[in-house]
Amino acid sequence: MKTIGNIPVEPGRRTNPLARVFDEFVQFCQSRSLFMLHYCTGCGAIELPPAMTSRFDMERIGISPMVTPRQADVLLITGYVSVKTLKRVILTYEQMPSPKYVIGICSCTVNGGMYWQSYATAKVLADYIPVDLYIAGCMPRPEAVIHGMRELMKNIREGRAEAWKDYYRNYDRYLGEQQRLFGDRWQTPTDIIAEAEQYGLLTEGTRGEHTALLEQVQTPLLPEEMRL
Ligand code: SF4
Repeated sequence: MKTIGNIPVEPGRRTNPLARVFDEFVQFCQSRSLFMLHYCTGCGAIELPPAMTSRFDMERIGISPMVTPRQADVLLITGYVSVKTLKRVILTYEQMPSPKYVIGICSCTVNGGMYWQSYATAKVLADYIPVDLYIAGCMPRPEAVIHGMRELMKNIREGRAEAWKDYYRNYDRYLGEQQRLFGDRWQTPTDIIAEAEQYGLLTEGTRGEHTALLEQVQTPLLPEEMRL
């Protein structure tokens, strides 16, 4: 482990004290202003309106809803995810700019919950996209949702909410799970390998047999023509 003087520095942290102060300031700001995209996949979504409106008022702690993944920081998955919906969830996740965070609400996102025997649902959300935090329960109350959001904010402030990096570092494993569920021709109009390279997160786990298969079937990404 690197050190400053005798003080150990956690892996991934910069050793320059000024750079560390700057990083911590950025993390503090990020943690206090989160835009949340809530993907209401299951019945847990019913507890979000009270969490967001005047009774519990999520906005007072710095969390606002966002309508587009392009400007969202947090993706909230609110319950069981059908195989069909999971495709949209992955596409939504991949469109979000990094750093990005995922919260799985409800026991169904942890292990399939009461739908664990269903042929139509994905059981463990974290097999397909990295999950920062689960809020378990069937269904968790708004207090639990707010508590979970506060935990995420604390993790971001302390530089511990880094699950998004795992998607780049181990993309081949995630893609393998996705291909197992959706078939060998599964693809999204994104380039995760190029993003991993851009963020300096390209590792041996980024590429592998599953990305090789993707390269064989992938439709080339072409710029869209702008039309008014
Ligand atoms: S955990 Fe319960 S409330 Fe939540 S999605 Fe599953 S069945 Fe619905």
